Amino acid sequence: MKLRFWGVRGSCPVARPHVRLFGGNTACVQITSGGHQLIIDAGTGIRRLGEELVQSANGGQNHLSLLISHHHWDHIQGFPHFTPANDERFTIHLYSLRRPDTGLRELLSGQQELPFSSIPLDSLRSRLEFSELEDNELLEVGPFKVRNYRLNHPGITCGYRVEADGGVVAYICDVAPSRDLLLAEGLPDRRESFWLRELYENQLKLASQADLVIYDTFFTPEWYYQRKHWGHSTVEDGVEVCRYASARHLFMFHHNPERTDQELACLVLRHQRELQSEDFRLHVAREGDVYQVESGEVRLCE
Ligand SMILES: [Zn+2]
Ligand SMILES: [Zn+2]
Repeated sequence: MKLRFWGVRGSCPVARPHVRLFGGNTACVQITSGGHQLIIDAGTGIRRLGEELVQSANGGQNHLSLLISHHHWDHIQGFPHFTPANDERFTIHLYSLRRPDTGLRELLSGQQELPFSSIPLDSLRSRLEFSELEDNELLEVGPFKVRNYRLNHPGITCGYRVEADGGVVAYICDVAPSRDLLLAEGLPDRRESFWLRELYENQLKLASQADLVIYDTFFTPEWYYQRKHWGHSTVEDGVEVCRYASARHLFMFHHNPERTDQELACLVLRHQRELQSEDFRLHVAREGDVYQVESGEVRLCE
């Protein structure tokens, strides 16, 4: 399978010169295999992906599957600008973890209501099919086997493990470490320590022997201690998960909007030096980069 990063930033999009190299759009990842399209999250990066999908669409019905990790705005704010959604040649299958209060359709519709947008969700010309996922549910979409696992992050959030063509991609964003605060909401009534352990186990299940792990490295350790309740992690946390899970390539992702290209480049270099003796490799997710993912091999294509 092929994986392309369309948006790598966390919290809000940035358009300043200091992010030109790694990119300023919020979370969006495209995975393709045998002509099938899987998209994870609809941050602002999805806008340019949409332009490309419309240009390459064929005359029949074009099917896309869009997995939403959670409903924070940086993961859905690009959807009103996703051109295939307003094109009758497209059927879009949308998935997110079930919420007790409302569904994904209502949430996406809310951000496109008048006067915020002039094109309400109900007037879009594509066919939109919504599915609410249960915890740990296995979803089969074309060649992709996708399983979700709950994560420790404010609200109701899951990560996705995608398997296809003998390769495994893990998307673990957004996530807080399990050592301090339980931030995940709507869990059955058990002790906090039980859920912190379970949610950490979920990270290991997502990353277990994965070829490519996309991980929330929004914080430095100093920022983390000042803002633990925001629900994000550090490079050190991602390294620990990949080490225990025997994963092969860790990609820093969901970059802090204040983090400059230079800071990101220095940070990855410092950690790469420290990790030279490890069995896995560390990278920075960069907007536009495409990787070929096969069992045991991850290769930069363009
Ligand atoms: Zn986020
Ligand atoms: Zn979030």
